[in-house]
Formats: sequence, structure tokens, C-alpha cells
Amino acid sequence: MSVKSYLKPQSVTDALIMAKTHANYLYFAGGTDIQVYLKQQLIKPDHIIDLSDIGELQNIASNDENISIGSMTTLDAISKNNSIYKDFPLIVEAAQSIGTPVIRKTATVGGNILVNNRCNFYNQSFGWRQAIGSCLRDVGDLCQVTKTSGKCFSRNVSDLAAALFCLDAKVIISNQNEGLELSIVDLYNQDGIDFHKHLDHDGILTKIILPIDAGSTWFKKLRIRNTLDFSSLTIAAKVYDNRNFRIGLNGVSMSPVLITGNLDMIDLEGIKSLARKSCKTVDNDMMPLKYRREMIDVYLDQWWVSIQK
Ligand SMILES: Cc1cc2nc3c(=O)[nH]c(=O)nc-3n(C[C@H](O)[C@H](O)[C@H](O)COP(=O)(O)OP(=O)(O)OC[C@H]3O[C@@H](n4cnc5c(N)ncnc54)[C@H](O)[C@@H]3O)c2cc1C
Ligand code: SF4
Repeated sequence: MSVKSYLKPQSVTDALIMAKTHANYLYFAGGTDIQVYLKQQLIKPDHIIDLSDIGELQNIASNDENISIGSMTTLDAISKNNSIYKDFPLIVEAAQSIGTPVIRKTATVGGNILVNNRCNFYNQSFGWRQAIGSCLRDVGDLCQVTKTSGKCFSRNVSDLAAALFCLDAKVIISNQNEGLELSIVDLYNQDGIDFHKHLDHDGILTKIILPIDAGSTWFKKLRIRNTLDFSSLTIAAKVYDNRNFRIGLNGVSMSPVLITGNLDMIDLEGIKSLARKSCKTVDNDMMPLKYRREMIDVYLDQWWVSIQK
């Protein structure tokens, strides 16, 4: 890897100026995701813009209506924050399921929300990829999973995203022209290569806003080893006001998936059917496709039992 410069802006404005004046740059938060991409030569930036000195991205603030979390807050810090623990135990559970304690000390909330999509045929060493042949997301012209030239199905694996989908979170983005506030749901594309929207290449995710409201939440994550491994399926669910529900699923499609409804209008089979239709799951994970699809039903069964109590 030959990076030409490693830049450390002190403010979001400085970072955006650096982004404008340096071609082929990469934002670096905790680096726990992208360092692996750099090592495996999956990305080759000329400049790295490290966001870690920007104090304004590290605040957690709360009022009666919401909690705002700076994007550079570490996963470890949100797990230890009393307000988040009290009002959003789901976020703490999701954060604590990510990586290992050492990774969580460095990994940030923003980096997790924007973690790169994964695929068993792509997240491999340079030599491995050369041996098997490249793919659409790299320099090849065929997907190694579907053997077609149509579409990349790499998976979004952010555990926090599943939780934030069901908590109806908003995100704030700063870019060259404006500040943008949008639902977290609108941050993602169902596309395994171009998986984020509204960042316009230089956009910086600055804050996550969580509305405080009552409800009961549930979280479950499937992975090979309960420490270290990425999600093969993550489900976060919330039931609130008059039996409304929001379910966030991840690890099983190119973007996180949201299912909403009211428990008086749809039964468990209906919810399972919606989940099956919404997830574009292909065989690109350590766990077999059939098993992962079946586990969506198994987890939804478990959630259903939990809300009958
Ligand atoms: C062994 C191991 C296990 C892991 N397990 C999990 C897991 O179980 N679940 C999971 O979800 N992830 C997992 N990860 C991936 C990663 O560690 C986490 O997703 C982490 O939260 C990423 O945060 P980061 O700050 O390190 O992001 P970085 O690696 O610094 O950045 C990730 C991406 O986000 C972009 N980015 C970061 N912050 C911003 C911002 N504020 N604005 C704009 N762009 C930004 C970067 O340019 C980069 O493309 C694992 C990683 C490893 C190495
Ligand atoms: S889904 Fe296909 S195109 Fe996308 S990363 Fe995997 S092998 Fe490559």
C-alpha cells in the first residue's frame, strides 16, 4: 500500500475541504473495518482523512425527546453510557455483539453504520481472489455466486443498523453543500457495490438521533462463533403503541431490511412471508443459504413467543 498522505482534520469543515482538495481519499474512523480492506488490497486510496481528532463528532447529548450520538463515539463508549443503557438497551445489546472488546474500544458508531458490505468471494486475500477469479465488485465481469454479470449481492452486516432501523433513528450528514437529516432507512441502497445513498462521495455522517419512546425490544444475532464473527443474520424488533411493530433484519441482503405493521393486522406467517420476500439472500456467507433462510423463520418464531408473555 502506498498512501501519499495521512491527514488529521480538527473539524468537519476542515475534513470536507481536505476531501475536496484530495482525489481518491478515504475517511478513516476507528479503522477496524477498512484496515482489513487495505491489507487485502481491496481498496487503494491515495490519501487517508482520519476523523478521530474531530471533537464535535464525539458527543453524546440527551433531552426529554431524544438522544444524539456523535458518529465517532466508540461502541465501547455507547455501551457504557447511562442514558443509552436506560432508554435504548437494544443499542447496547447490538453494540456488544460486534467484534471483540478490543475492536469495540476503537470501532465507532458511524463506522459500523457505514461498514462495507461483505461477501465470501470478495473479502479474501489478493492471492485467494486471483486463484478463484475476480468478480463484479472487483475487476471481473461475473458474480462468483450467481455466475451472471447482472448484480452484486454482497451483504450489509451492520448490527447497529438492524437495531437503528427498528428504533426509527435519524442520521445527520454534512457534505460540501449542506447538512442533511434523513431516516437511517434512506441511507442504504439494495445494491452490493453502491451500498450507501446520500453521502455523495464526500459526505460525513456526523450524528445519529434516537427518539425516546416506550416499547419492548428484542435482539438476536446468528454467527459461527459468538465472539469475532460477522453476522450471518441479525434481527432486532420493537413493539410499541397499540401493538405496532418494527423489525430490522441484516446480514441477509444488500441493505438492512425493515418490516413494519400492526400485530392486529398481520399474523406471524404473514410477517415471515414479508421477511422472505424482502431479503435478497444468496449463498455468499460462511453459513449455507438454506440454513440462513430457515433461521429467519426460527428467530421470528422466537420473537413471537417472547411478545406473547
Ligand atoms: C474481527 C472483526 C470482527 C468484526 N465483527 C463485526 C460484527 O460482528 N458486526 C459488525 O457490524 N461489524 C464487525 N466488524 C467490522 C467493524 O469492526 C465494525 O463494523 C466497526 O464498527 C467499524 O467501525 P470503524 O470506526 O472501525 O470504521 P472504519 O473501518 O474506520 O470505517 C468503515 C467505513 O465507514 C466509513 N466511515 C466511517 N466513519 C464515517 C463517517 N463518520 N462519515 C463517513 N464515512 C465514514 C469509512 O470510510 C469506511 O468505509 C468486525 C471487524 C473485525 C476486524
Ligand atoms: S455477490 Fe458476487 S459480485 Fe458481489 S462481491 Fe460476491 S461474488 Fe462479487
